[in-house]
Amino acid sequence: MMPGSLPVNQNIEILENGKTVRDVIDSKIKELDSAENQQPFFVANLDCVLKAHLRWTKNLPRVKPFYAVKCNDTPTVVSMLSALGTGFDCASKGEIQLALSLGVTPDKIIYANPTKPSYHIKYAASQGVDTMTFDNEEELLKISSFHAQFLKRLTLEMLLSRLFGATLSSAGKLLERAAQLGLQVIGVSFHVGCLCTDSLTFKRAIADSRHVFDMAKSLGFKMSLLDIGGGFSGTDFINESLDEFFPSESGVRIIAEPGRYFVESAFTLAVNVIAKRTVMNETEDYNTESGPDRTMEYYINDGVFGSLSSVLNFPEAVGSSELKYKSVIWGPTCDSLDKVLENYWIPELRVGDWLLMDNAGAYTLSICSDFNNLKEHSFTFQHLLTLTTDSCVHTTSTGPDPLKLCVDQPANERFYAHNVKNYENNAKYNINIGL
Ligand code: PLP
Repeated sequence: MMPGSLPVNQNIEILENGKTVRDVIDSKIKELDSAENQQPFFVANLDCVLKAHLRWTKNLPRVKPFYAVKCNDTPTVVSMLSALGTGFDCASKGEIQLALSLGVTPDKIIYANPTKPSYHIKYAASQGVDTMTFDNEEELLKISSFHAQFLKRLTLEMLLSRLFGATLSSAGKLLERAAQLGLQVIGVSFHVGCLCTDSLTFKRAIADSRHVFDMAKSLGFKMSLLDIGGGFSGTDFINESLDEFFPSESGVRIIAEPGRYFVESAFTLAVNVIAKRTVMNETEDYNTESGPDRTMEYYINDGVFGSLSSVLNFPEAVGSSELKYKSVIWGPTCDSLDKVLENYWIPELRVGDWLLMDNAGAYTLSICSDFNNLKEHSFTFQHLLTLTTDSCVHTTSTGPDPLKLCVDQPANERFYAHNVKNYENNAKYNINIGL
């Protein structure tokens, strides 16, 4: 990829002369500290997106990725993936608008949300986005009432989660109804759920899809598209199952909707400790081996109502010889739900310290609200997002790297934090947070 094809006007810095992403983060922190404006910020390394793309094309050559915009709708990510030739899974009018505004053509967009507001369907149809998913009869009726002259290309979403999807047993009836309404059902889609670690789930879903294809054929449909959704954490069984149930000779076009896979490792979030309090434990029976008789409570300027709603597991601090305290980390709002982490064993932090969280690209920025009117949560591009790319402009000549298709870090190391002030003195500690 040449620099000329990188998105412009989006605060991108090409790293040269050995400058690293950490250097960018450190200088941003210095800049914010000296301006006494310690807002949280993200730094994205576009190299990771490019490498993910190269791994994808090497490991899943038959599957065209349609990036799930909901995962991270940063315009630079969308533009970059568009330049790399991916399509886009959009779940709303707003996401379709964003993709179109960045030059994505309608044929590269699928409206992959089986329950859509009528006015969003109308908008999609008016823009030429003609491939959408459905999983129930009401949705078929809704779609058929719009733009009768417009050729709808529907994919039947199969049930794999509690939220969406038709069951295998209801698929036949739905297809019959679609035929009655004169709608064209061109394929089957499924989504195994985020971070699917059981690759047999993909195998089962691909086999079930074959079944629906056969059912559709007997009803007169000529299905030509299989959409294997998102949730990628490995490729085991996917190629094998595709070759078994949808061999190349079948002519079926295969697409997927990966989100997290492309962006998770690309983003680092830096947050600032804005307040702190010490709560003395009232009982004497604390475990002296694991720490002193107090809980430290910290408040950071991003939280559950901002970009940190997906931190689900409790962490364990590793790699530091400093005395650790049981700690709770709160977000900045006045809501008791805004608890980012608890039972978090870390050395004492100071107000003003920065915490860095790697692998923070998925379901973070795109989920932020401005609850409490906290402008911090808007992560406005002017001063909070710096996008960088280091070797990506040079890597294509060496071809795809041989890494497996998987996120760069194992799940239990998905986030880590360190105290930047300590880090500068080489007393770095890593903390596993995990999603
Ligand atoms: N496709 C659909 C229908 C989804 O609901 C989602 C996530 O919620 C995705 C794709 C992307 O999933 P992931 O980010 O785990 O790849």
